[in-house]
Amino acid sequence: MIYLDYQATTPLAPEVAAAMQPWIEEKFANPHSPSRWGREADAAVDVARSQVEKAIGLRDGSVAFTGSATEALNWALKGTVEKAPPGRNRIITVATEHAAVLDTCEWLTDRGVDLTLLPVKPDGLIDLEDLERELDDRVLLVAVMLVNNEIGVIQTVTEIARMAHDAGALMLCDAVQGFGRIEIPEEADLVAISAHKIHGPKGIGALWMRDGAEPAPLLHGGGQERQMRSGTLSPALCVGFGEAAKLAQSRATRDYDHVQKLWTAALNALGPGWVINGDTRHRYHGNLNIRREGVDGARMMADLRDIAFSLGSACASGSGRPSHVLRALGLSYPEARSSVRLGFGRYTTRQELVDACHRIAAVAKQQEHLDA
Ligand code: PLP
Repeated sequence: MIYLDYQATTPLAPEVAAAMQPWIEEKFANPHSPSRWGREADAAVDVARSQVEKAIGLRDGSVAFTGSATEALNWALKGTVEKAPPGRNRIITVATEHAAVLDTCEWLTDRGVDLTLLPVKPDGLIDLEDLERELDDRVLLVAVMLVNNEIGVIQTVTEIARMAHDAGALMLCDAVQGFGRIEIPEEADLVAISAHKIHGPKGIGALWMRDGAEPAPLLHGGGQERQMRSGTLSPALCVGFGEAAKLAQSRATRDYDHVQKLWTAALNALGPGWVINGDTRHRYHGNLNIRREGVDGARMMADLRDIAFSLGSACASGSGRPSHVLRALGLSYPEARSSVRLGFGRYTTRQELVDACHRIAAVAKQQEHLDA
């Protein structure tokens, strides 16, 4: 199989698997128990926390581990609303956010939140003037993702956060697809990340919180995670996340250069006739979302079962619904249907990517002839 679905998840790094191994097999203590073994596990969790904090690279805040980025985003949104000062009940977010943000915001509208969804331009970026127009002293939170999971475009989060702050609002950044790949903007107050997108294990995420911007708890119980989040932490998952974050930081330049080369190789191998969905410059180049007239993305996936790629997002794939992100760019239904997303990164070889792109291009040509 050729794996080209890096936005859905990434392969576990061998270094991460090795670091987790003792915590899966031998070291089973509860990190919240006072025994010597418990304290050892707790210390390992603390090391992992500082590795993740270091990789995030922001000052004046700290990380709490969660079960996923979805949980971190739910926590940030619901917990901030719960602590809202009187009169601040508006949330501004973007039409192309992940479902973890959009669906949570929608849920909050039944609980008194006034929600504004900003549109995006055909390149997938928001128009800052649209944001400026919407900001007022009733805005509590502006939630904008760093790197889009479907089309890879990078929003101007620093600028957006400054504008939010000028209006007295907080800024939440879903940095799941950006963490470990590009710098996290300094101005965000709340940042959600996930281990499995950076060659770490599934089932663990984190919320970075600026001091003073901590949301009210989402999960109640033992308060194991710094009295802010309840549930026994898994030392194995925390250690894996920490190791993955450390690796991403130490390999940042190498990984970045590799991805740049892969991007160019993929475009050359695909050949002419393809349109790239979303801006190509303000973009993470490990995401190549492309369309071509006459292509049926779903049929292409069925024809190329030994290549793992995706139709837009993993969530939209299989649902039969056209991707909300591609629709927000203004793509017609047939254009959205003719789009596929190729995601690659650290462990993708140039050769396998080129082979896959040649085969994708060949199937596209066949489909063109069938349609003609
Ligand atoms: N946000 C973005 C941009 C994502 O790509 C994803 C995962 O697909 C999530 C949030 C949710 O992350 P998790 O799988 O940790 O819940």
